[in-house]
Amino acid sequence: MELFDVYSLFNVTPVKACGCTVWDDKGTEYLDLYGGHAVISVGHSHPKYTAAIKAQLDKIGFYSNSVINPLQTELAHKLGKVCGYDDYSLFLDNSGAESNENALKLASFHTGKDRVIAFHKSFHGRTSGAVAVTDNPAIISPFNANHRVTFCNLNDAGSVEAELKKGDVAGVIIEGIQGCGGINVPDDSFMQNLRVLCDRYGAVLIADEVQSGYGRTGRFFAHQWSGIKADIITMGKGIANGFPCGGILISPEFKASKGLLGTTFGGNYLAMAAANAVLDIITEEKLVENAGKVGEYLKGAVPQSDKIKEVRGRGLMIGIEFNEPVAEIRSRLLFEKHIFTGVAGKNMVRLLAPLILKQSEAETFINSLKQLL
Ligand code: PLP
Repeated sequence: MELFDVYSLFNVTPVKACGCTVWDDKGTEYLDLYGGHAVISVGHSHPKYTAAIKAQLDKIGFYSNSVINPLQTELAHKLGKVCGYDDYSLFLDNSGAESNENALKLASFHTGKDRVIAFHKSFHGRTSGAVAVTDNPAIISPFNANHRVTFCNLNDAGSVEAELKKGDVAGVIIEGIQGCGGINVPDDSFMQNLRVLCDRYGAVLIADEVQSGYGRTGRFFAHQWSGIKADIITMGKGIANGFPCGGILISPEFKASKGLLGTTFGGNYLAMAAANAVLDIITEEKLVENAGKVGEYLKGAVPQSDKIKEVRGRGLMIGIEFNEPVAEIRSRLLFEKHIFTGVAGKNMVRLLAPLILKQSEAETFINSLKQLL
């Protein structure tokens, strides 16, 4: 049997990793500024992280959500203390898309309405509901297209209000910073307007922090730059540093009832051991602050060049937009300079480095980029 061939692969086979460094099967060392697509938050193979998973595996790896799992409560309590949403509740699932599905479902249950507002260039995942609020016709099947979704332009509060006025909108879903759509940072004033409009028209404000969350932007959540609170915050990717794990934070306005949400694997012991270790490391090593500091340096140090149009982002969520396709420079960064980077669209190099990135590692990237330019 062969693999279903849906991924464009680089000819690199990583076999070992530590911190921001990855080694391939030939012993070549790479600097990882991609973090497996914003997943590696506390660095590869952090000793505290690997020890926590190994220790848990020796005790109990899995049981169902029909018994008490103290690791879930531990995570909820710890998260409440550091994320700015102590009075919210936590529901655990397995991925970013699943988190968004659950958020949309809750918004719809809560309001009794079924239409959702999302934004052009959004990406919220590939499950049925999540892909329906994703602005990419190429990945929407006829089945997904039956969802009732309206796309508005980012930063256009007028068009959002015109839709909300129609009275059938359950929720507005917005990324803290748009990731796959090209590191588009919503204006703080727009986020503040969204908060006011959702309250005025009885819609649920959902902040998708799957990519921008858990410290990546130099705040715990990216939407906190604008000083607002969302009703539901969705999470995934970096929250367990590569062990599949997702979750949503839910405002006290929402009342839980038995069976309203559910999952087989969500919140399992191994995922919780991983997620608790990640949160401890983020807090102890002050990684939110580090992401802010090193990210600001990196953004500011990108060289001026007539090839580069704009540098966008916050903290370690950075997009370097070129005036031309970046396939070649990205490939040269990987094969000549041994640096992993990401991409958004054709013209943007996207950096999603582990939050432990050191200034010296950022400098290595800047020097390599200068040489290639
Ligand atoms: N939301 C955002 C903002 C994302 O960037 C992604 C993935 O890239 C998702 C949701 C989907 O997450 P997952 O691939 O874990 O389902």
